[in-house]
Amino acid sequence: MKTSTEPQRIPRPSTSAQRRAAWVFAALVLAALVFAAPGFLAAEEREEAPLPLEPWGPGILDIHHLDTGQGNATFFVLPDGTTLLVDAGDAAGRVPFADPVPDTSRSAGERIAIYIRRVSPRPELDYVLLTHFHSDHMGFLSDTSPQAAQGGYALSGITEVAQHLTLQTLLDRGWPDYAYPQPIDHASMQHYRRFLAWQRSNQGLEVERFQAGRRDQIVLRQNPRGFPDFEIRNLVVNGKIWTGEGEKTRDLFPPIDSIPQEDRPSENLCSAAFHLRYGPFDYYTGGDLAGLPDDGTPSWHDLETPLARITGPVDVHVVNHHGSIDPANPAFLAALRPRVHILPSWAASHPAPGVFKRLLNQRIYPGPRDVFATRIRPQTQAVLGRRGHAFASDHGHILVRVDPGGGTYRVLILESTDGPLKILAVHGPYRAR
Ligand SMILES: [Zn+2]
Repeated sequence: MKTSTEPQRIPRPSTSAQRRAAWVFAALVLAALVFAAPGFLAAEEREEAPLPLEPWGPGILDIHHLDTGQGNATFFVLPDGTTLLVDAGDAAGRVPFADPVPDTSRSAGERIAIYIRRVSPRPELDYVLLTHFHSDHMGFLSDTSPQAAQGGYALSGITEVAQHLTLQTLLDRGWPDYAYPQPIDHASMQHYRRFLAWQRSNQGLEVERFQAGRRDQIVLRQNPRGFPDFEIRNLVVNGKIWTGEGEKTRDLFPPIDSIPQEDRPSENLCSAAFHLRYGPFDYYTGGDLAGLPDDGTPSWHDLETPLARITGPVDVHVVNHHGSIDPANPAFLAALRPRVHILPSWAASHPAPGVFKRLLNQRIYPGPRDVFATRIRPQTQAVLGRRGHAFASDHGHILVRVDPGGGTYRVLILESTDGPLKILAVHGPYRAR
């Protein structure tokens, strides 16, 4: 029996109560250490973080609209695994209020390549299409950009993507002479042409001019017989538009020599557009085309109204020219009647308030619609005011995932980080019409 008469005795630390106290203390210390450890935090974040993206599989059509903050890049995995990249923009941080996303640690070209490697079933790009020759669609190529080890060309946008991925066929609006509507010989184009020359002789790249009316220029290369109801129809380029019959085209622009210098078609107006079909699913994309010409300019500066006649209803519409000042005219929207609008936005002028208002306007065409934007800047949000809350999503990569056969599709929003791709939100399923 312990009494106060045993003061000299060293107390035993291991009575059952004291042992319990010691264990509790040790457990608390251990828990504190574990909670503070980076590994534990990572596990905690993983538990709370969104789900990873399921990989593409045969029959699925994936269309990824990338959020790099520097321009357009859309990566397609077609139902048989054929791959297509439409544009590889890199404005090189030269536009105010338009920082690279997620940060400045990598260029847009490198990010496009990393993204494709993550989601593509194959390491090759079967096709690249440049809609037109502006830096936010092809890269900013200059003598001050990093230079390729060989070939004498700068690395930005598409030329940088080609550092990481093998390109099979490249389509643009100018090959081989790059002379419409006048010779195109600015610095970016000089670097780009040296890039093409080097790739053709050293990597076997094939280059073709994108031609309106054709539906055999971008085709399924892996298993075309498996998906007979898939088609990409070239609609317009350089003002030459498909008539809707066979492969016939007509010219929207008058002969160049007859046009006063100030009215000649801009680079944007020469953009390439196509219509993709997969069973009942329809998708439109058309670079920086316009539908509301500047006051006083010729009516043929409106490309959208003639396009409306041959495009018809679509499920998914990529808004022309990033939604800036001049696209999405009422006739075009009424003809396309999209359920889903995608705004490839990255600068503060994307979208213009009037354009966004039209996208939502129930009088132009009735019914529900969702507007997804790759990146709405705070300055844009401030200008849009209350209407700015009407986006279904205002940042992140936008993946349109179409189910085998094309009958249904979903829109997935993916986190814009350099880490593993994670889903922030899933919209749909939508039924293709
Ligand atoms: Zn653009």
